[in-house]
Amino acid sequence: MSKEPRFEGNIFYHPCSVESCMRDGCIGEGVNLLKGRLGRWYCMPHYKELEHKRASEKRVIQPVQEKQGRLF
Ligand SMILES: [Zn+2]
Repeated sequence: MSKEPRFEGNIFYHPCSVESCMRDGCIGEGVNLLKGRLGRWYCMPHYKELEHKRASEKRVIQPVQEKQGRLF
């Protein structure tokens, strides 16, 4: 099954981008549906993991940016 976010009919599918993960992504990055950019999506645990990894790399905690969309 493809990990790419996609539309099937009117339904927007956005599975978590992590290969072994079967959950739906609930947080998307670089998403702009009006411009046809479907972005990359992560489930909550994987997004937190990613955020944590980035924070420890940069030694700063980034505020949530506008380009990130939250569904829940
Ligand atoms: Zn996941």
